[in-house]
Amino acid sequence: FRIQIAPIQDANKSTVGVVAVLRDITDIRRLEEMRKDFVGNVSHELKTPLTSIKGYVETLLDSKPSDNIYNSFLNIIKEEADRLQRLIEDLLNLSKIESHSNYKSKEDVDIVKIIDDTILLLESKAKKKDINLVADLNLSAPNIQADQDQLSRLMINLIDNAIKYTPQGGKVKVSVDPKEEKLILEVEDNGIGIPEDDLPRIFERFYRVDKARSRKLGGTGLGLSIVKHIVEEHQGNISVESEIGQGTRFSVELPI
Ligand code: ADP
Repeated sequence: FRIQIAPIQDANKSTVGVVAVLRDITDIRRLEEMRKDFVGNVSHELKTPLTSIKGYVETLLDSKPSDNIYNSFLNIIKEEADRLQRLIEDLLNLSKIESHSNYKSKEDVDIVKIIDDTILLLESKAKKKDINLVADLNLSAPNIQADQDQLSRLMINLIDNAIKYTPQGGKVKVSVDPKEEKLILEVEDNGIGIPEDDLPRIFERFYRVDKARSRKLGGTGLGLSIVKHIVEEHQGNISVESEIGQGTRFSVELPI
């Protein structure tokens, strides 16, 4: 609590009482803590690839490496630079959505087309892992009022995660169905699953079940927090069910 006290005086300036204002600042404190955590996390996430890039460049400058070593170091440097780029793009995306600065008036959006386009975009990534990427799209799904770019981003993040966290030879299924006044989008995989204890936290910025695995797969830890913001921006709901070793299903409900 923050307490402010002020005296009450009568016409003769003698104090006849006091006013005490107690303000509950738990929320303000919590937000401040979250902001500090976020800045700390961002700094750390940016610093790690940069330190690695500097290290490899310095080694190359200081030594006369063989062609093999030279090429393999250059590849690592490129991967780390790509990682920085993805991170910065995700941070910009997140900040745009959070500040509503890219707010466009909502337009008529054909979700079936968005899903088709996303599948086309991610098909080759699925093929590389021999993952069967299938769509079960109810073609009678009506258009909804939405931000087209944001819905594309939402589908990309969910399907990309499903491919990332599903082992070789697995299956990812995307479906859309109208139900009552809602459109139900589902992305289901038969991948590694998420432990029950982690489920409530996966939408937090930078939260990852297995940091090393996410990093190896090129994750930034921001994908699902971006998804959650987009869903909220569209007055929708997102839920997740998962079982370790069996798979994961994300369901998004959007108002029609
Ligand atoms: P990342 O960039 O690490 O993938 P996200 O915000 O997209 O970050 O997801 C947060 C974490 O949730 C991931 O690191 C992963 O541990 C878990 N996760 C997300 N989607 C899936 C999925 N389909 N199967 C298993 N785990 C998942």
